[in-house]
Amino acid sequence: MVDDDATMVIRDVRPWGGAPADVGVAGDRIAWVRPAGTTPPAPGAEVVEGRGLLALPGLVNTHAHADKSWWGLPWQSYGGEGGTQGRIAHERARRDELGIPSAPVAERVLREYLRTGTTRVRTHVDVDLGLGLRGIEAVREAAAALDGAIELTVVAFPQDGVLRRPGVLELLDRAARAGAEHVGGLDPALIDRDPVGQLDGLFRIAAEHGCGLDIHLHEPGDLGAFEINLILDRVERDGIAPGKVNVAHGFAVVDVDPARRRDLLDRMGALGVTMTTVAPVRMRQLPLAEMDAAGVRFGLGTDGIRDLWSPYGDGDLLGIAWQYARAGGVVRDEDLRRVVELATRDGAAFVTDEVHDLVPGARADVVLLDAENPMDALVRRVPRAAVVAGGRAVDLAALAARPWE
Ligand SMILES: [Zn+2]
Repeated sequence: MVDDDATMVIRDVRPWGGAPADVGVAGDRIAWVRPAGTTPPAPGAEVVEGRGLLALPGLVNTHAHADKSWWGLPWQSYGGEGGTQGRIAHERARRDELGIPSAPVAERVLREYLRTGTTRVRTHVDVDLGLGLRGIEAVREAAAALDGAIELTVVAFPQDGVLRRPGVLELLDRAARAGAEHVGGLDPALIDRDPVGQLDGLFRIAAEHGCGLDIHLHEPGDLGAFEINLILDRVERDGIAPGKVNVAHGFAVVDVDPARRRDLLDRMGALGVTMTTVAPVRMRQLPLAEMDAAGVRFGLGTDGIRDLWSPYGDGDLLGIAWQYARAGGVVRDEDLRRVVELATRDGAAFVTDEVHDLVPGARADVVLLDAENPMDALVRRVPRAAVVAGGRAVDLAALAARPWE
């Protein structure tokens, strides 16, 4: 049988480690998945030879800062003061001389994500009185240069504070009106010293424009838990749809005692508030089983990489999944596989589609790895052998592997 619809066939792969299959792609979508060798490619269809490799959906980076990195620039020494306030000040003092944000630098970051199999990205982008919306324009331009290979979702992120910088709420409002999918927030107590005020301002914008909210919450323990409840109160009050509000980091969730954690997570699950984690190495990890039991969907992200906050980070989302699993003591097959699902399929909750998987109708985002199964791919952080992104076969060899060039 010849299938004329498929413009590309990814031949002889093992989706999720299962039986050998061919994957037909039409445009930017998966058209069909059939037993290997049963559907000869139509004349003229592009063929990607899978050679029996493991196939996974594209990795989804749910918490990135694609505007901030100095990837592609010469090495920059770490300087300035520590802590959130210190890093904010250091970044504002040095970013102009590095020429960031800029579309060419952001494009280097996106290319590195792509090289390691990330096909969809939710990126926070700084919006402040110095930059206005220039950063958002830069990352959109960078994504456009990749011709749809990376799908970008933008969070307009007030890194320098909201209420303490009069004019920022108006900027966020403008960003939402201009199409930012989400408006961000940041430590409403420690940065703005007015948690109710910051959150009310953000929720007002969400109510007016129907955009999502994705709020950085580093604040620990009781303070953070109090603020998560302020967020949940507003989600409930405004009747916001599940999946529209995200808490990034949410360190308080692991700080509080088990009974309070269960109450927090149950309420988050019931209201459909999601979380994102960057699997911080020096802290306890979000509890996989408890998150799942409460129905709290969560995503994995690289956070900023190689930027004025930290020299670390390489943009490989599978590396973050490994870090999360290793630091969290994840060892059983079903749990290792679950972490791979979080890094791929379950990222759907944080981007534009309901479904992100190797199934007909999904965006054709496919990563091939020389691994026995998803668990093996995770624990060995297996290099990506081939990447199809939005129906395009990515030329991995053409993507620069060196971050300083
Ligand atoms: Zn962040």
